[in-house]
Parts: sequence; C-alpha cells; structure tokens
Amino acid sequence: MIVKAAVPSVLSERALLLDVGYRALSIVSVRRAILLLISQKAELVHEGKHSVRSERIEVNAPSVIRLRYQVAAPYRRRAPLHRKAVFARDGSLCQYCGRRAECIDHVYPRSKGGPHEWENVVACCRPCNAAKGDSLPENSKFKLKAVPYAPEPVALAAALRQGIPTEWDAYILNPLPLSA
Ligand SMILES: [Zn+2]
Repeated sequence: MIVKAAVPSVLSERALLLDVGYRALSIVSVRRAILLLISQKAELVHEGKHSVRSERIEVNAPSVIRLRYQVAAPYRRRAPLHRKAVFARDGSLCQYCGRRAECIDHVYPRSKGGPHEWENVVACCRPCNAAKGDSLPENSKFKLKAVPYAPEPVALAAALRQGIPTEWDAYILNPLPLSA
C-alpha cells in the first residue's frame, strides 16, 4: 500500500507513539505512524478525526499508536531548553512572586558561574529579575515557589503544540501547566 499525500495536511499532523507499557515515547508524524502500523511494528490505540486516502482504501489517521515490541531503554534525552519551553514548564508565571513572567532568570546567576540548565532557569517578571540582580540565592530574599526541573521531552513537546488531542492526555505523564 502506498500512502499518497492526497491530504498533506493530515499526513503532516502528529500522532502520539507509546511504548509497550503505554507510556508516551514521542510525537511522530501521521505518515510515520501509518508506516509503523502497516509494517506491523505498532498497533492502533486511538483513531484521529481525519481520514487518509491511499490508492485502495481510506482509513482514519491514527492519533495514538503503540509499539508492539520492547525498545531498548532509550538514553534519556533532555528536553531542549529555550524561553518558550521554560514558560511552558512554569505556566508563564514568575517563579518568585507569581505574577505574569516576562523573562528568564538564572537562579544562580550566570555571572557567578550558574549553568544554563533546566535546574537553574526559571520564568521571571521584570521587577523581580531587576531587583534580584546578581545576588546569590542564599543571600537573596527571592525564594522560588517550586524547584526547577527538566521536563520530559514528550510532555514539553505536547505543551508546545497548540492544543493536543484529548485522547493523548491519559498517556502524557507529568503534563506541563500551560501551552506556551
Ligand atoms: Zn516576580
């Protein structure tokens, strides 16, 4: 079966790929999801709303698929760190005062050797960022509302998409608070 790009917008949409244990592994294109289904490497868990036409048949585009075989524990990739990603993790709220965040703050200042890593970066409002300046966390009156962490790549990828299908929700563990 040759999957034609008759409806390119559907084929370029995304499907959620689960591992054998129904944990979200990654977000793949619908085209890749269909190829995994055709080659029997994956099974369908949830259909999407749109249909995809091939030469002979018309099928609903997959929305969630599950690999049939165990994959070797993939080495844990870290989610890429950038402004939108940090805002998605922190719900676009200043992690010191809870107001709307406008910038990124390094908890342990970069000028003092603080790393540019998930665990040292938070969303921050301008007043807090300016008032905190280069002070070290231990000497500062600015206390974090939560400990910064590196989100799971698939949870971040889902949060950064504008609205994910509701059927994905059950499989995204530790979802982020807000779509950026
Ligand atoms: Zn603030």
